[in-house]
Amino acid sequence: MFFTEPEPPRAQCIPVSEGIQRIVANNPGKMTYYGTNTYIVDTPEGRFVIDPGPVEDSHHLDAIIENLGANPAGILVTHHHSDHFGAAPVLREKTGLPVYVSRVFPDDAFQPDGFLEDGDVIGDLTVLHTPGHASDHLCFARQGGILFTGDHIMSWNSSIVSPPDGNMHDYCAQLQRLIERDDKICLPGHGPVLRDPQPYAERLLANRMRREAEILEHLRNTPDTVKNIAASVYKKSDPLIAMAAERNVMAHLEKLLSESRVAEDGIIWKCI
Ligand SMILES: [Zn+2]
Repeated sequence: MFFTEPEPPRAQCIPVSEGIQRIVANNPGKMTYYGTNTYIVDTPEGRFVIDPGPVEDSHHLDAIIENLGANPAGILVTHHHSDHFGAAPVLREKTGLPVYVSRVFPDDAFQPDGFLEDGDVIGDLTVLHTPGHASDHLCFARQGGILFTGDHIMSWNSSIVSPPDGNMHDYCAQLQRLIERDDKICLPGHGPVLRDPQPYAERLLANRMRREAEILEHLRNTPDTVKNIAASVYKKSDPLIAMAAERNVMAHLEKLLSESRVAEDGIIWKCI
């Protein structure tokens, strides 16, 4: 189902496609794979950085600055999570480049230079608002069928959907949207290039629907807590992954609650 790759080099550009380079940050982890992908993308308006990555990795930041070229144009952020947005303020400070974030970017402490919303075009990149993993999540579509997908769709693993900012109903709707598009490749926020993304996105959506059915089946037999449902449905022993599974279960339950298919009684959930 998922795709792996050999450990990529850090602090250096990896060519991806005509006018697109990737630099992988050194923030490996159970939620980030080898680290966050920063993309440097040429457009007719100049070179854009998509997701500067985490602020902690100064070598990564130096590598981005070294590869901005003669005509840098700006910094684009897929979503507010620190492994993607974290270095944006300091990169702006060091380069003077404008930072563009979603119109619904949730961090009021940061003053962006521009807001983006669904359908906007910046450079030759078309903005898609794809809430689900995060309420402000954006994807960027480039001519030639290339879609920068951040954490909406990743090649190496499924995404966590953690309420209240994460929303399973929105996430599933935005997976369906991607299935109906004709992108040829996705460039995710973590992991390798994803080719032929539609059948992959169909499998991701089918997995979510299967989880939802399993949660309902569990609740039909036993009204239960989020923790117990996650343990029964996801069966994850690693504590961090088990916690992520609980967040996903919570997201499914909120979706089912909004559809009046489950009810909440204190910490116990039950079928209606
Ligand atoms: Zn991420």
